[in-house]
Amino acid sequence: MGRKWKNLIFGEEHPLQERLFVLIILISALCLVVSLVADIFLGTTLRDLLVMLVLMFILGAIAAFSVRRKRTHTGAVVISALVIFVLIPFSFFVGGGLFGGPPIWFVFAGMFVSLILSGKTKYFFLAADLAVAGICYVVAYSGPAFLRENTVRVAYIDSYAALVFISLAVSEMMSFAIRLFQKESRRAEEQRKEIQALNDAQNRFFSSMSHEIRTPINTIIGLNEMILREDVSEEVAEDAANIRAASNMLLHLINDILDMSKLESGNMQLAPVDYRTADLLSELATMFSARAREKGLEFRMDVAPEVPAELIGDDVRIKQILINVLNNAVKYTREGSVTFSVQCGKREGNSVTLIYSVEDTGIGIRKDSIPFLFNAFKRVDEDRNRLIEGTGLGLSIVKQLVDLMGGAITVNSVYTQGSTFLIELPQQTVGEETVDLSAIGVRRSGRSTAYRARFEAPEARVLMVDDNASNLLVAGKLLRGTRVQVETASSGEEALRLTQEKVFHVIFMDHMMPEMDGGECHRRILAQTGGRCREAKVVALTANADAESRALYEREGFDGFLTKPIDGDALEKELQSQLPAELVRSYAPKDEDLLEESMAWIQTPRRKRLVAVTTESTADLPRELLERYGIEEIPHLVVTEHGLFRDVEDVETRGLLAYMEDPAHSVRTLAPDAEAHESFFAGQLSQANSIVHVALAPGVGNSGYPAAREAAAAFDNVTVLDSGHLSSGQGLQVLEACRLAEAGKSPAEIAARLEKTRDLVHTSFIVDNLDYLARAGQVRSGLARITRALTMRPVLAVRGGGLHLEKLCFGSRRRAWRKYIRSALGVLSEVDTAELFITYTGIAARDLRWIREQAEAHIRFDRVYFQKASPTVSVNCGPGTFGLAFRKRE
Ligand code: ADP
Repeated sequence: MGRKWKNLIFGEEHPLQERLFVLIILISALCLVVSLVADIFLGTTLRDLLVMLVLMFILGAIAAFSVRRKRTHTGAVVISALVIFVLIPFSFFVGGGLFGGPPIWFVFAGMFVSLILSGKTKYFFLAADLAVAGICYVVAYSGPAFLRENTVRVAYIDSYAALVFISLAVSEMMSFAIRLFQKESRRAEEQRKEIQALNDAQNRFFSSMSHEIRTPINTIIGLNEMILREDVSEEVAEDAANIRAASNMLLHLINDILDMSKLESGNMQLAPVDYRTADLLSELATMFSARAREKGLEFRMDVAPEVPAELIGDDVRIKQILINVLNNAVKYTREGSVTFSVQCGKREGNSVTLIYSVEDTGIGIRKDSIPFLFNAFKRVDEDRNRLIEGTGLGLSIVKQLVDLMGGAITVNSVYTQGSTFLIELPQQTVGEETVDLSAIGVRRSGRSTAYRARFEAPEARVLMVDDNASNLLVAGKLLRGTRVQVETASSGEEALRLTQEKVFHVIFMDHMMPEMDGGECHRRILAQTGGRCREAKVVALTANADAESRALYEREGFDGFLTKPIDGDALEKELQSQLPAELVRSYAPKDEDLLEESMAWIQTPRRKRLVAVTTESTADLPRELLERYGIEEIPHLVVTEHGLFRDVEDVETRGLLAYMEDPAHSVRTLAPDAEAHESFFAGQLSQANSIVHVALAPGVGNSGYPAAREAAAAFDNVTVLDSGHLSSGQGLQVLEACRLAEAGKSPAEIAARLEKTRDLVHTSFIVDNLDYLARAGQVRSGLARITRALTMRPVLAVRGGGLHLEKLCFGSRRRAWRKYIRSALGVLSEVDTAELFITYTGIAARDLRWIREQAEAHIRFDRVYFQKASPTVSVNCGPGTFGLAFRKRE
């Protein structure tokens, strides 16, 4: 039994909370037993003794039961309740109240509760403990008869005994708790170290495995390249091409696994360098225009002219990110196109955010898969993609690299229709020059399909240093076409011997060699007394393709850098650039490769906007402004007995009002649903990276706001804002958003600003009567009848996002209108005079002129727009309605 309890406290397999619970229960039981014995000596009655015993038995049983059933929390709650509400008040009254030990028991109960309970329950019982103590004190004070009195001697002994026991118990509990805590944190620290060691071992393993695997792949790719260079039969050529594809895939996989392990262990480092944007983009164009063409897809590229010509960033990793995303776009698209656009985002000083977007017309991604897209080894929608090769590593690496660069990646996708990946990467600019669009395009190496060396240099002498014989074999063969004289060395020592005796113009040096590594060998060659290669150019050969190694080689003073597996063309190019010009007879231009086609798409760029503003047809904006800002509207729907019509596009206000003159004709308006919004947003996202959609206030009837919010959840880059208004008030908010977007503000900044300007927009209108609003269910028909009978013209205004009956104007139309205009323009000094919208329906031109004169008699606006209300708005307020919308000064 004893062992079992000991195990319950010290056994590490039990949860900490449980062990603490058992310990505290045991100590408390001990305290109670001791105090019981003390009570016997101090002369407690038999009845009190029995009550105490029964209570202790119950507590013990609950504790044992809850530990056995592993329900320690419930046990702790029940025991706390019994102790605070029964045991302690009872012992207070039988133990002499303030004149004895009981006050200290309240402290003990508080301690007990804080140690075995947590969260809200703990605070509840602490409060209960104090409350019960208060009640006991009050009862004992006002009715001393309830209290069993102690003699002074007993009171002192009892108080002292309680003090001693409880101090001991509390100190024991605390020191045990501290010991437990220290042990636990030591264990956590040990575990952390173990995990770190495991991680490091795994990293070393991956790194050496990648090196080991790369070496044989180098041989396969290199020797296979020799076969491809020969004039072999078609079948052999095809086999060799397949070997090349398979080896490249294997290489890709190895690189991905290595990157993943580096990223996960936090060992990935970026190596920013100066690079030319046109080179990077051309490389991608060359790679993907060919891949897209092979699949029958159109590849478009769209580069904004303000993109800087030169940037500082880790171009290797940037390329890796873009290749991955572009590759997926080609891979998951059966027909249609892949569009790659590059834009310039925020610029501050010499830092700039480059925005790359990759849009495809492929299979799209299910809404519920999007949250898992960037998880490692997660391939979404596996049933459908089972036949498409992949590991699910790509996007996870992309996301982690983007995060490492301080950028962001977002996805907008419509299942079965296509996806757009948007990548934002901050980089540094070098100078003010912008990219030369005509220099971007598909580049072809300067030779025809049949192999021919770029140059010949029969007098040139080259030394290859590598500890691996097949690497030497491959490199030697790859240079055969150039007719250079190649010698090989299989160790640093041998290389030093050769460089002492012979002249070599260029030395290719493997970096990782046993005994003497490439770096050391390089240093010694340059410092060799009497050495004949102190002027030689030394190029590092390495299996580590990452940018850190590249930086390392540059620091070590190598003249060049080539990664394994060695690409034949890259090897020739590197050698050509390192050899003295007089030794080289060239066939291909020495400089960069030729631009095969400067793509047509660059001459006719389809400029994608950073932020587009959209709204509903209820915004009542003049065509001129819609066009000026490129605002697209989603139409509301008008429902009549003849069917469903799209607002503005299919129905026109005047015809609809004429139709409604017959009260038997019912007309309803309907906001577009989530599905309609989703396809609207999807369409807009091909024109812009992000969308800010300004919706009709949800408090004023048929708003598309909820549906828009629902649809936006499927996209990363759609922000839906409540304009807080309707008609031209909504329009004014849309215009504010457009101006902010033009000023380069982000969707979040636009949202914050619109939230502020919402209360500054004034929207109100005066209607002839409330009949139409009653028909639309916006006001009660009784109210409509009364106002008409009394020739009262109601003025409605939007306040706090809801429609309010502002006032009633009596008398003739013009009298009422004059009153409305005066009251709407209110305190003139508060009005922002930039623009006024007069939105109307069913009002003659003559009357409109009069309205304008009246308004301008009060205040002169810089611009006054007359706008016929959309059918949806008109149907709800009826003919003879007009409203003023303007902004108030801040
Ligand atoms: P994989 O190696 O499987 O392509 P990724 O990490 O690159 O792995 O992508 C993860 C998953 O995301 C893919 O399996 C695919 O289902 C989905 N996916 C990625 N890009 C696209 C795209 N452009 N269109 C449709 N689905 C995509």
